[in-house]
Amino acid sequence: MGDYEVRCVSDYSLQPSFALNCLNDSSLLRAYYAAKRLEPKDLPGIWRFFDWLPVHGIIEDASEGSITYKSQGLAQELGLKNLYISFSGYWPERKASMPTCSFKDLEAPPTMQRLKEQGDGSTLVVASAGNTARAFAQVASLTGQKLALFVPEKSLSRMWTTAEPGPVTLVSVKGDYFDAITVAEKVQSRPGFVPEGGARNIARRDGMGTVMLDAALALHAIPDHYFQAVGSGTGGISAWEAALRLKEDGRFGSNLPRLHLAQNLPNAPLYFAWKGKEPAPAAEDMFDDVLFNRRPPYGVAGGVKDALLATKGDLYGITNDEAAMAKQLFEQSEEIDILNAPAVAVAALEQAAKSDAIHPDDVILLNITGGGISRIKEDYALHALHPDNIVSDWEEAVQFLEGRS
Ligand SMILES: *Cc1c(COP(=O)(O)O)cnc(C)c1O
Repeated sequence: MGDYEVRCVSDYSLQPSFALNCLNDSSLLRAYYAAKRLEPKDLPGIWRFFDWLPVHGIIEDASEGSITYKSQGLAQELGLKNLYISFSGYWPERKASMPTCSFKDLEAPPTMQRLKEQGDGSTLVVASAGNTARAFAQVASLTGQKLALFVPEKSLSRMWTTAEPGPVTLVSVKGDYFDAITVAEKVQSRPGFVPEGGARNIARRDGMGTVMLDAALALHAIPDHYFQAVGSGTGGISAWEAALRLKEDGRFGSNLPRLHLAQNLPNAPLYFAWKGKEPAPAAEDMFDDVLFNRRPPYGVAGGVKDALLATKGDLYGITNDEAAMAKQLFEQSEEIDILNAPAVAVAALEQAAKSDAIHPDDVILLNITGGGISRIKEDYALHALHPDNIVSDWEEAVQFLEGRS
């Protein structure tokens, strides 16, 4: 049960279970599970996929997963016969009740469970433009684990939980997401703190991979295409890795889904790298700044480039205007509110449908990575999280945090 080995993608060398890096190179690590067949367990939500999550136990209260359904409205608008939507968010009419309304709710529970299994009582450090911080705050509030969040000032409005807030320290960083990361990296190297690892964290990736697993069960097959809006591209890597496991299982077909990953122009380093273009200067106003990551895992072994090459995938650059129109189209045709980020994926799907990148009969999975915030407000009073401190650099952050503990 829950047996796995952690190996480098580059040379298959065995690494310690809780490693985040390979010793020889910059390769990503990957979990290699003993179970080779997808056998859903009689456990709640994402824990059904226990065999393919790098954990030995579960957090029962943090379990909600994505749902998969066949689109009628959007499918008709785009002339697609087999469009399936994976929805990560709150939409009780379709039995989706992810508590902080984005697919970061798939990453936080396995990560926090692993932290518990690691068992040294360290404070987990997370830097985030909002959605990741919110998801981790939710789980830490339920489990009582120590968590320090570093969030850029302008993302503070995204900080809320549906659970009564627990032992979460929220540090607001002056500047953008990159400044928040810089501060967090200094803090997490101090004794008593551990980094969550971002794309390097196998629990985050395999948590996100449950999107593909849930879809495969619903479709009885691996889809032909997978559309997602990306910042770091971690979700794309996760979809690829989950599909590799499904392929090895053998009952879901032998094709890998073509990854169609979408970024928001001009802050689209993955797009420019993939197209071999000079990156455009960064802009202040993005349709959704959760999609901007300045150091995405592109060229490393097991990273975004490998995932695109292996799946014959592509990257799309989407403007704010295109995303805004796509958001409207989605919300009107599917009748649920979505976050801005997934609208970038909808715009990419629109582009693909107009080209010969996809065919009307192809089986397509569109990952709506967040939604239902308007809907959840009808059912829950959200608890806003307020910053415990506002810092301009890491020295201030360390002084504050070490003064508290
Ligand atoms: C984080 C996030 C993304 C991008 O995720 P990747 O880590 O780049 O795969 C997309 N949509 C939403 C809603 C997100 O929170």
